[in-house]
Amino acid sequence: MNRRSFLAVMALGLLVSAAVPTFAANNGAQTTASYAQIADAYSFPLGDIEITALSDGTVPQDLHKLLTGASQTEVDGLLDRSFLANPVEASINVYLLRDGERRILVDTGSGSLFGPGFGGKLRDSLASVGVKPEDITDILITHVHTDHTGGLIENGKAAFVNATVHVGAPDLDFFLDPANAQRTGYDRRYFDEAEKTIGVLAKAGKVKTFADNETILPGIVASFHPGHTPGSAFFTVSNKGQSIVFIGDIIHVESVQFPKPAITIVYDVNPDQAAAVREKVFPGFANTRQLIAAPHLQFPGVGHIRAEGNGSYTWHPVEYRNRAGAAGQ
Ligand SMILES: [Zn+2]
Repeated sequence: MNRRSFLAVMALGLLVSAAVPTFAANNGAQTTASYAQIADAYSFPLGDIEITALSDGTVPQDLHKLLTGASQTEVDGLLDRSFLANPVEASINVYLLRDGERRILVDTGSGSLFGPGFGGKLRDSLASVGVKPEDITDILITHVHTDHTGGLIENGKAAFVNATVHVGAPDLDFFLDPANAQRTGYDRRYFDEAEKTIGVLAKAGKVKTFADNETILPGIVASFHPGHTPGSAFFTVSNKGQSIVFIGDIIHVESVQFPKPAITIVYDVNPDQAAAVREKVFPGFANTRQLIAAPHLQFPGVGHIRAEGNGSYTWHPVEYRNRAGAAGQ
């Protein structure tokens, strides 16, 4: 997702939000039904690590404007099968990993860059699980787009003052050089927003780049899957024989791109390559029953992919659990 297309659908979002008071706006004396949520976190164990999905909010997406490589009729048909209609709502999910030593974020949401009411809820979501911004030791960035790096900065300064930011070298190189906007024709706004977010931290010496297949922290391996951006990374986290792969933005719209992985989105720097990544990695995830987590699938965005034949897939969110006890108990 990006700001350019987001603004295209912003008018609709503002109309909706103006008509629906939030819980906060009327001091709990709610008179109108609303989509404002109170629970913004979903935690589960992976070996000795506690993983928590944190909501940064949701934003409306006009798929008629955003999806490429499909007709509006085809898109509407796929949405209808999932009981949805255009526009749809995209989650912005951030993930927190906690073990005895570290508190690691995977991405940081959009911060203030999408404007009031759209994204930027990470700080509140973190507080809901008792974590302060200064507690964060490391931040893993799947790729340098506004809705993943926006939360790195608050009022022009580091939002997570003690954190080292880890990012793929190809994305940092690409997005911090505005000449690439001219060279590729990719929206200049991405480059400007990169400068204002991860660029500030790079100048302050808080950013560490990683290479393909590098172990960036104990039990965490990064791998590159370029297409959506030149340095789009997966993070494979392993602990006590279990693993989860944080796949970043190789998929945006579950009801469309799982059944038809060839359908692309305007946010892709290289759409053909982005589609090829899905076609390459989905079979393996399905065969190995790999647990995955994705920033824009519906919160918490954690689950499995099943192969349905003919290059088509379905998404199966994790079982919901809300009680004490570790896995298997
Ligand atoms: Zn994104």
